[in-house]
Order: sequence, then C-alpha cells, then structure tokens
Amino acid sequence: MNKILIVGGGIAGLATARALQNQGYYIKLIEKQSKWQTSGTGLYLPSNGVIALDKLGLGDIARKKGFLISSRNIKDAKGKTILDLDLEKIWGREKPCLGINRKVLHEVLIEGTHNINISFNTTIKTLKTNSDSVVIELSDDSKEEYDLIIGADGLYSKTRELILGDVPLRKVTAQVCRFITKKPPNINSWTLHISSSGQFLIIPIDNDTAYCYVNRKTKGFKTFEEKQYMNPFKKFASPIPEILDKWNPSNSYWNDLEELPKLSMMGSGRVVLIGDAAHGMPPFMAQGGALALEDAIALSNLLKNENWNTMVATFSKNRASRIDWTRIRNQKREKLSKLPYWIAKLGLKKVGEKNWTEDYKPLSEIPK
Ligand SMILES: Cc1cc2nc3c(=O)[nH]c(=O)nc-3n(C[C@H](O)[C@H](O)[C@H](O)COP(=O)(O)OP(=O)(O)OC[C@H]3O[C@@H](n4cnc5c(N)ncnc54)[C@H](O)[C@@H]3O)c2cc1C
Repeated sequence: MNKILIVGGGIAGLATARALQNQGYYIKLIEKQSKWQTSGTGLYLPSNGVIALDKLGLGDIARKKGFLISSRNIKDAKGKTILDLDLEKIWGREKPCLGINRKVLHEVLIEGTHNINISFNTTIKTLKTNSDSVVIELSDDSKEEYDLIIGADGLYSKTRELILGDVPLRKVTAQVCRFITKKPPNINSWTLHISSSGQFLIIPIDNDTAYCYVNRKTKGFKTFEEKQYMNPFKKFASPIPEILDKWNPSNSYWNDLEELPKLSMMGSGRVVLIGDAAHGMPPFMAQGGALALEDAIALSNLLKNENWNTMVATFSKNRASRIDWTRIRNQKREKLSKLPYWIAKLGLKKVGEKNWTEDYKPLSEIPK
C-alpha cells in the first residue's frame, strides 16, 4: 500500500485528504497546531471553489451552512452604487458563489475526512528524497518513509523551504483588518464601499452573520494605531457606522498581505506542493481557497494514473494555466487598487463589468 504524508491541515491539506481517502493509500496528516484552529473570520468562495466542493461531495452541506451570493455590489462612501455585478452572468450558473465562516468550512472538510491518521503538534524537520520514496524526520525526532509527501503547509511552508530553499515573499499591503459581525438585514450580497481612504467589504456568511474585510489606502506600508484604523469609515453610509459602533480591534485579525513568486515547479521528486505553499497570493481575486480545493482534486486524479516520479512536472503543467491566470489578474487588481480614487471609480463605471467578466472567464470553465 502506498504511503502518503500530508503536511498541514488547512483547506488544501484537508481537501486532499478527503479526495484521496478512498483510493487505497495509507494517509497521515501532520498539523503543527495543537488542535484545529482556524482564524475566526469568513471566506468568499467564488463559483469554481463551490464546484470543487461539489466534486468532493461537500457542496450541499457547505451551501446549507454558508450564504449563497449571486451579485457583487460596489458603492461609494455615501452608499451610491458604482457597479452592480450579476455573478450568475459571469459564472454561467445559478446562485454561483458562497460566503462561509472559515471555521465552518474547516468543520465541513474535517467531517468529510475519514480513515486518516492525524497528528497534531507535529511538523516536519528534515527531508531526504530517494528515487522512489522520501525519508522525513518529524518534530518528535521520529523517522518515517513515504512514497509521497504533499506540502499543504501554507504561505510560509516548511516543506517548500526543505525542497526549494528560501523563496522570499513579496510584501504587497500592510495591515488588513478582518472581523465577524451581525449581518445587517439589508446586506444580502458581496458589498464593497470604497473611497479615497480605503475599502470596506461586507460579505454575508450565514443568515445571521457577516464577515468584514477592511483596508486603508496608504502610500507605501504605513500602519495605523489599531483604534484609529476605522476613523475614515465611521462617516460612510449605513450600515458601516452601526457595524463600527460594535467593533472591537482586539477581536479582529490583522494581516499584511504577501505574494509567493511563481515557482518553476510545484515541488521536486516525490514532494509536491499545493495551496498557498505552491501559489500563495493576496486575496484580490479571492481565489486562494478555490485554487486550494481545485489542487486537491487535480492531484488526487493524477495520482490514480500518473507515474509518481514524474507527477510533480505533470501536476505543475496541468495547474499552470489557472494559477498563472489568477496571479496575473491579481497583480492587475493590485495595480488598480493604487490608482487615485476618482480614476478607479470612473474605470469601474466604464469598464468594471467587462474587466470582472474577463477576470473570471477562464476560471468559470470547469477543470477536468
Ligand atoms: C486577509 C486574507 C483574506 C483572504 N480572503 C480569501 C477569500 O475571501 N477567499 C479565498 O478563497 N481565499 C482568501 N484568502 C486566501 C486563503 O485564506 C488561502 O489561500 C487558503 O487558506 C490557503 O489554504 P492552505 O490550506 O493552502 O493554507 P493555510 O490555510 O495557511 O493552511 C496551512 C495549514 O498548515 C499548517 N502548517 C503550517 N506549517 C506547518 C508545518 N511546518 N507542519 C505542519 N503543519 C503546518 C497550518 O497550521 C495550517 O493549518 C485570504 C487570505 C488572506 C491573508
């Protein structure tokens, strides 16, 4: 029986465990944290991510626990609509996208995973690749040999470092703030308010709860005192001031955004990288979760037929078009986000729908 080690129990690792579980392998998953600990925020899962959940047999339960989203509305600070995007038109399917609590998505993935040996508090220390296997040393000093290692350990992947050395990340934005709040009754779609001060995004993640993603627009990487961070948004249209009345900076998640440069190969020998470990990028296209789920399916299909010694090259080639496209469009969005507000607003009005349709067109085609 072939032995597979999955490093990391995030979206990519758990989805891969789910996809591989009935293919007759021995599977072990190691997770560095002492228990499942997902950041308590939300996730917007575009349609290709929802389709991937369907392929994993988890789409219905995720839809039931999340919030279906069929439009994206962009408004100015006063609440006047700049762009109203019909996602059903963009994705060519009914109720195509999903807002979901990250913790809930994690639970859905964990519940869908059986017969997997899971070790918490465990990381990978060393790794030696042989022609047909990989010998690893774990953080408890034990040595184990596997036919395949799947590095699903996120943007700061240790597995990637062990096989490819240090790949410096590019810092993109400082101090993004995310938190969960009570869903305002009139917010039933992806709703973004923008001004020259920044952007305030509200996404319903179930009937009672919404997820907020807030980013101040600054030159360079200026950071703010957390309590002052929301000051410009307090003057925005309802429901933002009401949300901010209840906002607590210490119940929020603060992140810088970073991008992993394109890897020439997503792994080496019998070690393959998936999810953010292979192609981590800032969430301007909101594709990180969806691409991680797609990786899981693509890899599990490939392992059924492909020679495992050449699998990394084939996997990298098969996944390149969707990942490279997303990275290019993501970088384009990053540039657009730096334009002066009045130009950005005009651009959204004139060519917003065309650009957004183009952004997602290739991803709306279902991968094999
Ligand atoms: C601010 C922000 C907003 C985002 N919004 C969205 C969004 O709306 N939609 C979307 O699709 N994507 C979004 N993303 C991206 C998305 O979160 C990631 O793409 C996705 O979580 C990647 O999943 P992953 O499993 O590859 O990595 P991770 O989620 O990072 O999971 C990695 C797992 O591996 C574990 N681990 C790490 N190192 C080790 C080790 N050495 N040994 C063992 N275990 C290890 C970690 O504890 C973790 O459990 C956002 C990202 C950010 C930063």
